[in-house]
Amino acid sequence: MRTQVAIIGAGPAGLLLGHILHRAGISFTILEQKSREYVLGRIRAGVLEQGSVDILRELGLDADLAERGLTHHGIHLQYEGQRHHLDFVDLVGRTVSIYGQQALVAHLLREHDRIGSDVRFEATDAVPHGLETGTPSVAAVHEGREVRIDCDFVVGADGYHGVCRPAIPGIRAWERSYPYAWLGILADVPPSTDDLIYALHPDGFAMHSMRSLEVSRLYLQVDPGESIDDWSDARIWEALQARLGVPGWMLQQGTITEKSITPMRSFVASTLEHGRLFLVGDAGHIVPPTGAKGLNSAIADVALLGRALVAQTRGDERPLRAYSGSALARQWKVQQFSQWMTEMLHVHRDVADASAREFRYRSQVGQLEYTVGSRHAQAALAEQYAGLPF
Ligand SMILES: Cc1cc2nc3c(=O)[nH]c(=O)nc-3n(C[C@H](O)[C@H](O)[C@H](O)COP(=O)(O)OP(=O)(O)OC[C@H]3O[C@@H](n4cnc5c(N)ncnc54)[C@H](O)[C@@H]3O)c2cc1C
Repeated sequence: MRTQVAIIGAGPAGLLLGHILHRAGISFTILEQKSREYVLGRIRAGVLEQGSVDILRELGLDADLAERGLTHHGIHLQYEGQRHHLDFVDLVGRTVSIYGQQALVAHLLREHDRIGSDVRFEATDAVPHGLETGTPSVAAVHEGREVRIDCDFVVGADGYHGVCRPAIPGIRAWERSYPYAWLGILADVPPSTDDLIYALHPDGFAMHSMRSLEVSRLYLQVDPGESIDDWSDARIWEALQARLGVPGWMLQQGTITEKSITPMRSFVASTLEHGRLFLVGDAGHIVPPTGAKGLNSAIADVALLGRALVAQTRGDERPLRAYSGSALARQWKVQQFSQWMTEMLHVHRDVADASAREFRYRSQVGQLEYTVGSRHAQAALAEQYAGLPF
């Protein structure tokens, strides 16, 4: 069969790109290795930058977001038992929205169903071919049969473990792993806060986020090697109470419905382009979740690549050739911010020397004090958290 753009991966990046192409009258097929149920059940990010919200609105994909999303005007930064609010609207005139990646994926899929898109789940063994030629294709196995999709372009929206990035000869990558991980829970309890709380505590980082007015999302810094089996619900609540507690404030507890541990890594590929192949989202870069940038970076890539593919079909190749450089330039700024937030808020338990560990902790407190005490520093955080333009 033939289509103009073959997209590998039905995460938020692949699904959103499909909608951009559809609106421009460009045909596409999405190949996803997992089942529809699996894709719909994956719980991940939950903060949308204003630019991401704007893109969804421009595309008419914001109905569910408008109904269920929560607009947040800032964040709380907490250390040494004190909580400080950063008001993004006052600082940079921007907001963020709380809207689960799971809800976004479900909405994008419903809209694909409505417009009759060709989205194939459980399509395994996808391999891109002929990327250096004018006639690329993707081979895969779907419903027990080998399929070959001839196309003009292949888009690798297949996440960090996908097949597209390794298909680029000579590609390099820069990465670092952090000596900590996040234990995340979903709990059936109304949030105990208006805006998100990011807390540095001598026991480690903690965060109070949310998914809705009924469901809280909370995180704890743990060691990367820890097993979720060692964290009973009671132990999790005890640690959250200790790390998030401030005088005069109560963290409400509820039934934990999901818990998991995620390692933290920064990763950037040297290019997002090879001939007729383009990478978007986690296929090209990963950030630690502290700055809430993973999903937003995927949306930013897709907005850039979508525009470039539309321009290309209208005879202008330049945006497509500029895509990798532009997306990576933006991504390195996002990497810097995510690393900065991560380093400022996590305790380095791996530093063996107690004095060096304490030195590090006290300098983190100094950095937080500077940040909340300086309007310029607050504005820099707000500008990056609410999202750089794309
Ligand atoms: C456990 C976890 C928690 C996270 N939490 C946060 C958070 O709190 N905040 C935040 O900002 N970000 C978070 N992220 C990151 C964020 O979810 C990702 O940045 C985002 O999902 C990227 O979207 P994507 O479409 O590029 O990739 P993905 O969502 O990974 O989608 C890729 C898709 O490609 C499919 N695929 C892979 N290989 C193939 C193949 N060979 N053939 C066909 N299909 C394939 C996959 O099944 C998947 O559906 C988290 C990520 C993880 C893993």
